[in-house]
Amino acid sequence: MKKFTTVKTFANNSTIEERRFLFEVVGIANQESNNLDYSIRNSGSSFIAVPYARMNQEMNRINRLGGKIIKITPMGINTPIPANSLSDSSDVTPNPEPMTQAKSHKSVKVPVNIYRPNNPFVGKCLENYELVAEGGSGTVRHLTFDLSGGDLHYLEGQSIGIIPPGTDDKGKPNKLRLYSIASTRHGDRLDGKTVSLCVRQLEYKNEAGETVKGVCSSYLCSLDMGADIAITGPVGKEMLLPQEEDATIIMLATGTGIAPFRAFLWRMFKEREKNPDYQFKGLAWLIFGIPYTENILYKEDLEKMAAEYPDNFRLTYAISREQSTADGGKVYVQSRVSEYADEMFELIQKPNTHVYMCGLKGMEPPISETFTAEAEKRGMKWDEMRKQMKKEERWHVEVY
Ligand SMILES: Cc1cc2nc3c(=O)[nH]c(=O)nc-3n(C[C@H](O)[C@H](O)[C@H](O)COP(=O)(O)OP(=O)(O)OC[C@H]3O[C@@H](n4cnc5c(N)ncnc54)[C@H](O)[C@@H]3O)c2cc1C
Repeated sequence: MKKFTTVKTFANNSTIEERRFLFEVVGIANQESNNLDYSIRNSGSSFIAVPYARMNQEMNRINRLGGKIIKITPMGINTPIPANSLSDSSDVTPNPEPMTQAKSHKSVKVPVNIYRPNNPFVGKCLENYELVAEGGSGTVRHLTFDLSGGDLHYLEGQSIGIIPPGTDDKGKPNKLRLYSIASTRHGDRLDGKTVSLCVRQLEYKNEAGETVKGVCSSYLCSLDMGADIAITGPVGKEMLLPQEEDATIIMLATGTGIAPFRAFLWRMFKEREKNPDYQFKGLAWLIFGIPYTENILYKEDLEKMAAEYPDNFRLTYAISREQSTADGGKVYVQSRVSEYADEMFELIQKPNTHVYMCGLKGMEPPISETFTAEAEKRGMKWDEMRKQMKKEERWHVEVY
């Protein structure tokens, strides 16, 4: 029977301060702890409980002492650790999970499927305006719906379903389409009673050369103010924003893929006063791919935030039809990934860095290829890195 003891919590009782990780360390001489509740020894594995806030410092210290961290496992606030936490790995906490910094969002209840397709919430359209400036390509609209009278609430990074009226070509009622929520949980009117979307009207030519317009996106883009709208959801846990205020959040967006990142950035910067419990002080880096300057959605707001928070928000455009790479190619999001690869690879090795990708399906393969090539140049294996990041809930993809 193993004996367990509980490591003390630390001075500051905030959630971040309370989160601890168990470092398994080898090859280090006996050292007294700083004023933490641990010490380490010189043979076999040693186990050190480290509060989140001191992780970087502790990694550096172990490095300096010539030690090597072979495993990092997250611990719950009351997770027991072995009584002799300086003995070998057979004594470690049973069923350790892989290291994850993102799990903290799990302490918040994620609402899902409050309204289902057979009983959707019927809201009203409060706003529907064009986001593409004169001379840009296509139609993208910002829509806001009134949710009052219902119970629909959501978190940044989730999606809602919209059921367009009418029937499909088989005479069946139209099915719902999903849209990423572009507003924070407070909604654009800051009263918690609205939800906003960023919708591109789908338009393409079929094989016969006829122009076809998407059913739901066309319906939304031409929705009148005050019109009823059938909403389901919310859904989605893939794109949630971690609660850590000092995280690094890398966002790769194309077109309407900006929607969840608008919600993130509004929460981090624009609506700071609404979130006393979330005062972002990490780094948010948005790489935004669009064809023309006129297609930069929410341009004014993005640039204002970048100017106001130069240390915390970095805004990089990839304007494919206007900018060119050193070798004369078009600039896409992946070109920027390649351009900033050194910095990006450094960042993604930090345990509190999250990468998000959102937009059209086509963006994923070239971005993955770029990461693969850049990792190879650095003697790393992107596939393994990505898998590990995914396990750690630090790699988030939503493409459609
Ligand atoms: C999680 C998630 C989040 C999303 N978020 C957003 C968002 O924030 N904003 C947004 O605008 N959209 C978003 N979408 C996409 C959205 O759900 C719809 O798919 C989109 O609006 C098109 O729906 P529609 O009814 O207008 O088109 P439909 O009438 O359903 O037509 C779509 C169909 O047209 C065909 N088609 C499309 N393009 C072509 C082409 N070039 N050539 C030939 N055939 C083609 C395909 O068969 C396709 O299935 C999201 C999707 C998902 C899954």
